Amino acid sequence: MESPHRIVYMCEVCLRSSPAAELCHGRMMIECDAGCAGDDCTQPITDSVGHLLTRAPKWWVFRHRRAPLNATR
Ligand SMILES: [Zn+2]
Repeated sequence: MESPHRIVYMCEVCLRSSPAAELCHGRMMIECDAGCAGDDCTQPITDSVGHLLTRAPKWWVFRHRRAPLNATR
């Protein structure tokens, strides 16, 4: 049995999150696939000795890599 992926919507300006897409700061929140509960992608990034490199979970840090259509820069 597969657990469903959690889809969250976040404002890229203020990082407010919502379970549904909303207009915030004049733009629609971006859709993020937060993975399944307990997935590796829900963990923060650590270096090889376990020091935290980010406080944000991987799905947030790498969110733009899943959206090549938006990679215009
Ligand atoms: Zn906002």
